Amino acid sequence: MSRPSRVVIDKQALKHNLKHVQSLAPHSKVMAIIKADAYGHGLVRVAETLSDADAFGVACLEEAQQLRSAAITTPIVLLEGPHKAVDLAAIDKLKLEIIVHNEFQLDMLEQAEISEPLQIWIKIDTGMHRLGFPLHKVADVLNRVANCKNIKTSFRLMTHLATANEQDNPLTQTQLEKFKQICNGLEVEKTIANSAAVISLPETNVEWIRPGLMLYGVSPMVDSYADELGLKPVMTLESELISIHQLQQGEPVGYGATWRCPEDMPVGVVAAGYGDGFPRHAKSGTPVLVNGVRCALVGRASMDMLTIDLRNQPDARIGDRVVLWGESLPVEEVARHADTIPYELLCGVHKRLEFIERE
Ligand SMILES: *Cc1c(COP(=O)(O)O)cnc(C)c1O
Repeated sequence: MSRPSRVVIDKQALKHNLKHVQSLAPHSKVMAIIKADAYGHGLVRVAETLSDADAFGVACLEEAQQLRSAAITTPIVLLEGPHKAVDLAAIDKLKLEIIVHNEFQLDMLEQAEISEPLQIWIKIDTGMHRLGFPLHKVADVLNRVANCKNIKTSFRLMTHLATANEQDNPLTQTQLEKFKQICNGLEVEKTIANSAAVISLPETNVEWIRPGLMLYGVSPMVDSYADELGLKPVMTLESELISIHQLQQGEPVGYGATWRCPEDMPVGVVAAGYGDGFPRHAKSGTPVLVNGVRCALVGRASMDMLTIDLRNQPDARIGDRVVLWGESLPVEEVARHADTIPYELLCGVHKRLEFIERE
């Protein structure tokens, strides 16, 4: 590809992060969450690299289909379950496990004609109020599940935490207590933890855990970085300098002329922009690495280009490497400068970019 922008995926880092997850929760099975094209890293690539995971969690049937077409035989869990009755035929054919979170799905399961009973995960809403059955409905749900010929008797229970990434938010304990109350006396496998909980709430590392972001080497916690947590970044978004200017004090840079040179200085142009998934809301001062040295974004990001203050790299030349996030530049930090979260930046890398795998 003639554009020098690319995404480098470090497969060793991915494997390392899974091992690290397993060491944090040695008694738990891992449902590796690979929805949204594995957080932008490439669905099949990630599934093949994480072959030691016990299951994969995906958002939709198309993702599950892609994995099965790539001969992945690991259990796959459809995180939102079926949306329509016809979905159950595909779920049956692809041998998927499903989350069941509403009565509409139970109706569909009761009426379906499928080849064998499904493994289901019953989702309980303990306080996030996104998906799941409210506590007062659970007894009725369990009764229907027990009497449904299309559901395996070994159902599992799950809940999802709204505030696990914050230290000491009281909602977390409230949710955990409600879940415990529901599970009391039921001899079934359970799952609670996303990445933040795997790291900060060891009591949530029950039979199954559901890490996503941390597998990609990024911290899920507010105000912490992956390296402090023993994780290695998997994705590096990089490009090159395609132009360098010596500008005079007071000259503006970029659309809207929002930024002006505080002194005579070199400004570089990088061949990547919001059309590649770099956040347009990144502010002047957002760090970038030029030849491994920290420099700063100046002016507005455009579709295919960024402008960089090169005072820290006055000898930089056209063709020099620029890292926008990843190796030696945490995406957590870039996200903060763009008023967003690392999840959004990773998912947003554009598929037009060249992806390079590093073994
Ligand atoms: C996305 C998701 C996860 C993973 O969350 P991370 O914060 O990326 O670890 C876990 N469980 C469910 C239900 C999810 O939708």
